[in-house]
Amino acid sequence: DDPPKDDVSGAPAGTPAPDDGSPLVRLEKVNKYFGQLHVLRDIDLSVQRGEVVVVIGPSGGGKSTLCRSINRLEPIDGGVIEVDGRRLPEEGKELARLRADVGMVFQSFNLFAHKTILQNVTLGPMKVRKVAKAEAEREAMALLERVGIGAQAAKYPAQLSGGQQQRAAIARALAMKPKVMLFDEPTSALDPEMVNEVLDVMTGLAREGMTMIVVTHEMGFARRAANKVVFMADGQIVEENTPEEFFTNARTDRARDFLSKIL
Ligand code: ADP
Ligand code: MG
Repeated sequence: DDPPKDDVSGAPAGTPAPDDGSPLVRLEKVNKYFGQLHVLRDIDLSVQRGEVVVVIGPSGGGKSTLCRSINRLEPIDGGVIEVDGRRLPEEGKELARLRADVGMVFQSFNLFAHKTILQNVTLGPMKVRKVAKAEAEREAMALLERVGIGAQAAKYPAQLSGGQQQRAAIARALAMKPKVMLFDEPTSALDPEMVNEVLDVMTGLAREGMTMIVVTHEMGFARRAANKVVFMADGQIVEENTPEEFFTNARTDRARDFLSKIL
């Protein structure tokens, strides 16, 4: 059978976002299939402004697909995804603008290899936000300083360490002034000695009040920075809990089993 196709197209542009304590990111009954494979099953998730949600769970559980669908890198087959009270449109200029509300950092950095670090950071603001070059460069330098790699601005990605590249990717995402940042296993591809420099930047962002959804196996970060842990397996949210409860007293067998293998 074909998966159901609900209307997931956009709300009208310019609709003012509500400021009434409503969630910044809201998923309701989100479903996603890859062919016959049901990878997101009735996902309900709300993320409040300033909240840090850590998503953990076994490989293949749908965590990356969840991130990608929040950013519309993957179309969904049913349900609702809203960012700041608006559904993302399927395509077009409006999508590029609204997508800028959602910053994304991947496991594999995804920097443009033939552009300098500075150019990597200024490109999006100049193209999508129509920021003038001088201002984009000023903002980019401030962000690169903030993540501790100002001295690397004129270099190309391959000249940087993995940790530096990932911090550049974070600066690039922040340059779009996103309302929420998604991190999909941002430290999984790093040599161990570089993990902390990236987690420190993320912890700083969390402290400053950035709304974040973070897929990670870094349990120290989850304990330190998360307001909420979401345990995902087989395309479902199996458990949603506070970090304290989750790590000491998980409610579900599935989560306890997972934790016993990784801790
Ligand atoms: P996780 O990030 O939790 O490891 P993913 O979201 O990457 O999980 O994958 C969820 C399931 O969807 C897996 O079974 C994976 O093989 C499958 N999958 C992911 N991306 C695709 C794709 N583009 N086409 C087909 N199957 C996919
Ligand atoms: Mg993944």
